[in-house]
Amino acid sequence: MANASIRYGARIRKRAAEIKKKKIALYKCDSCGEIKIERIGTGIWKCRHCDAIYAGGAYTLTTGAGEIARRLVGGMKKG
Ligand SMILES: [Zn+2]
Repeated sequence: MANASIRYGARIRKRAAEIKKKKIALYKCDSCGEIKIERIGTGIWKCRHCDAIYAGGAYTLTTGAGEIARRLVGGMKKG
């Protein structure tokens, strides 16, 4: 039993690491023009070059579509 749970835990950890890698994407900064914006938190993005902070989607730096989607999810949860 103990051995089985250890193996299971290791597999989950490996899978989580792979997912994390895919989420890392850099975006173009509007203030300095460098492609150095990275996700530092849920909906929070920061430029490594000029330290500008942006609010965006949870996993992508798109504001328009992300905002609408989040509002729709919120409304559905209420109803
Ligand atoms: Zn910048």
